[in-house]
Amino acid sequence: MPRIIQKYGGSSVANIELIRAVARRAVAAKREGADVVVVLSAMRGETDRLIGLANEACPDPDPRELDSLLSTGEQTSVALFALACQALGEKVKSFLGHQAGIKTDDVHGKARILEINPARLKTELAKGRVCVVAGFQGQDRHGDVTTLGRGGSDTTAVALAVALEADVCEIYTDVEGIYTTDPHVCDSAQKMDKICYEEMLEMSSLGAKVMEIRSVELAMNYGVRIHVRHAHSQSTGTIICEEDADMERTPVRGVTHSVNEARITLLKVPDHPGVAATILSIVAKAGIIVDMIIQNHSEPPGTDAGGEGLWTDFSFTVPAADYENALDLMRAAGREIGAAEVLGDNNIAKVSIVGVGMRNHAGVATVMFQALAKEGINLSMISTSEIKISCVIEKKYAELAVRALHGAFKLGGPIHG
Ligand code: ASP
Ligand code: MG
Repeated sequence: MPRIIQKYGGSSVANIELIRAVARRAVAAKREGADVVVVLSAMRGETDRLIGLANEACPDPDPRELDSLLSTGEQTSVALFALACQALGEKVKSFLGHQAGIKTDDVHGKARILEINPARLKTELAKGRVCVVAGFQGQDRHGDVTTLGRGGSDTTAVALAVALEADVCEIYTDVEGIYTTDPHVCDSAQKMDKICYEEMLEMSSLGAKVMEIRSVELAMNYGVRIHVRHAHSQSTGTIICEEDADMERTPVRGVTHSVNEARITLLKVPDHPGVAATILSIVAKAGIIVDMIIQNHSEPPGTDAGGEGLWTDFSFTVPAADYENALDLMRAAGREIGAAEVLGDNNIAKVSIVGVGMRNHAGVATVMFQALAKEGINLSMISTSEIKISCVIEKKYAELAVRALHGAFKLGGPIHG
């Protein structure tokens, strides 16, 4: 008997009518002969609403109490879903994280799943019941409720797929699947039938929002096949799986952009071993995650002091939310280490192309840079990995750049060329 995990996001369970619709979908899978475990998010907007209430009650809410509060969002969804299944005449039981055997560490607000004891779920499945589990939550060693971080229901679903050795983990959402780029930005964006874990990880971290990154990592580590689908349509969706030959034939499979970053530059820092470590350790201590880093020897024109190792220019990007803080820290650090100037720019965007096929195609970067140049877009930073190339550009060009790249790599499919 196939075993299926079905995860429905908040927009798919936003009201009773939608809950009824997804209950029908789960029950249909059950009646076709599958073991069905459903994982739910809170109803759309509910987690934000609860966070708002917590902040009203206390300016700096205690993480343990916040978790206790936020977990009620998913508790509501699973109970309503179970009732909707019962109304369809189906045997069903709802489970909170701890009832489903989900053990986490005790880092409230971003707990990690340590282990899952699926005994109770297995017993209920064997009795022919649909099991519906609250996403995003677990229990720590003190018996307290924990939550896994925003978007964490995806991780619950994949972790349950591992623990229950499910055949597939279906992630139901409000889009048809994973697209070659953001369809709101580029109307020739195509839904992909398949994407491999590595590409999906890059796409998620570069700004594609459908899947939570942590869940894709987990799926990759355990080889869980993910099927992303629209909750209220029968279309085929996108499979996230191991790389195959088809994927390698196309050098670039997706284009992403992000406008949530900012750049900090330290000009003319005296260049000696340890400079990069000093700068980055200050940022890391503040809990700020650095993405791109560029360092270059600088020699102002007309200097004949000459030779390498005199000065260096050092730039890096941080999340936009950390910009002010990072800039303040670097202004202080710049004085300390003798930088000539510290500059900040939060008027930037990052556009990226992704594809495992890049590994064995030459000239991909050239096509990318030419396409951007043709639009008169200047590149201020470039970074590459085996399967992606990212460029920092001026923010106002972000969407134009996405469309240009989507066209240049012919991702629009046969109709759009
Ligand atoms: N309800 C949580 C959130 O809004 C978890 C989830 O939906 O995955 O982030
Ligand atoms: Mg989500």
